[in-house]
Amino acid sequence: MYDVIIIGGGILGMSTAMQLKQTFPNQRMLLVEKESAPARHQTGHNSGVIHAGVYYAPGSLKARFCLEGNQATKAFCAQHSIPYDECGKLLVATSELEMQRMQALWERTASNGVERHWVSQQELREREPNITGLGGIFVPSSGIVDYAQVTEAMGRVFTDAGGEISLNTQVLGLEERPDAVVVKTDQGDFQARRMVSCSGLMSDRLVRMLGLNPDFTIVPFRGEYYRLAPQHNRIVNHLIYPIPDPAMPFLGVHLTRMIDGSVTVGPNAVLAWKREGYRKTDLSLRDTAAMLTNPGVLRVLKDNLKPGLWELKNSLYKPGYLQEVQKYCPGLTLADLQPYPAGVRAQAVSSDGRLVDDFLFMNTKRTVNVCNAPSPAATSAIPIGAHIVDQVKALE
Ligand SMILES: Cc1cc2nc3c(=O)[nH]c(=O)nc-3n(C[C@H](O)[C@H](O)[C@H](O)COP(=O)(O)OP(=O)(O)OC[C@H]3O[C@@H](n4cnc5c(N)ncnc54)[C@H](O)[C@@H]3O)c2cc1C
Repeated sequence: MYDVIIIGGGILGMSTAMQLKQTFPNQRMLLVEKESAPARHQTGHNSGVIHAGVYYAPGSLKARFCLEGNQATKAFCAQHSIPYDECGKLLVATSELEMQRMQALWERTASNGVERHWVSQQELREREPNITGLGGIFVPSSGIVDYAQVTEAMGRVFTDAGGEISLNTQVLGLEERPDAVVVKTDQGDFQARRMVSCSGLMSDRLVRMLGLNPDFTIVPFRGEYYRLAPQHNRIVNHLIYPIPDPAMPFLGVHLTRMIDGSVTVGPNAVLAWKREGYRKTDLSLRDTAAMLTNPGVLRVLKDNLKPGLWELKNSLYKPGYLQEVQKYCPGLTLADLQPYPAGVRAQAVSSDGRLVDDFLFMNTKRTVNVCNAPSPAATSAIPIGAHIVDQVKALE
């Protein structure tokens, strides 16, 4: 019998496991992960940005955990000799409409506690000679890191303290009994007094395995990237982001300096026909049928038909994708966009047809389940893990 079983070897599962073991050093803990290594899904397929917390609704968990997570991630990296770069980020407005949206964003996020500076057109030119825009917001605390490395280091802290990790172990069923939770896997059954699920793209399915009927479902959105040709590795000095369209749930295609020295463009956001479907051609009949028979998902598709089709067009038509970046980086050409692996976001959609914006948890007597943890959850992994530890303490 384990004291705690953690499901999922992404950054949230590892952060939680690490902090649970630090809090309860004498307890027996097991983390199970279905893949052969940690960070094989969202955590290993993202932009690698340590977000500052500039966008998020004041008072939300995202706003709070992102701000704390920005500092905590950098401190963890420094402590474990993981390379990171506090390169700062520029949000760039390219039209009068975007200038208005930028002003609104500036005012809306005034109370978030994030250091930011209004940047004039002249200053933008000086900071970023290859970027065009009417003005911008500079956020100095944004940075970059490889989250797979962070996750592996968290796993080492966990196992060095006596925690066990079982890879290649897929959870197939769960049974919550009065005295324990039975975790049924393809490697046999395990029992624990408490259980935490951080299962990303499968989070709703794990909740259903507990016999619950959640009022949300996970919808996979593929985020497709290109990598710039190596001669452009120094094209930007900071991370360059468009001003987000308030009607769109994602941040828009950005130019991201990666910690390996390359620069990526992306990600867009296209509906994926398979959870964990990284190629455009990936299709799962089970996943597709579940989406297309869900009234909440159908409503989201209907309400976002125009932007959805726009994203799909740019996904299939590279010149369209290029145009999105050329708005602020006009010097790039089609030949500069080289292939780069996509990621798939786990986005919860509520049964009444909303994209769930904030982090979401669902608890039972013996379990804590992370249900919605989209970006900036990698940045926020340490405070989210601490929050889960508090919730585990409060379980029976
Ligand atoms: C394209 C993209 C760009 C992003 N950019 C950023 C960014 O720049 N900055 C940022 O902060 N965030 C970013 N994010 C968000 C961030 O990557 C995620 O929020 C974060 O990685 C979520 O971590 P997780 O541990 O919840 O999920 P995951 O990393 O997906 O881990 C879940 C794990 O659970 C395992 N699992 C699932 N079901 C089972 C089962 N039945 N049995 C056993 N194991 C199971 C999976 O195999 C997986 O390893 C981005 C995400 C994407 C997709």
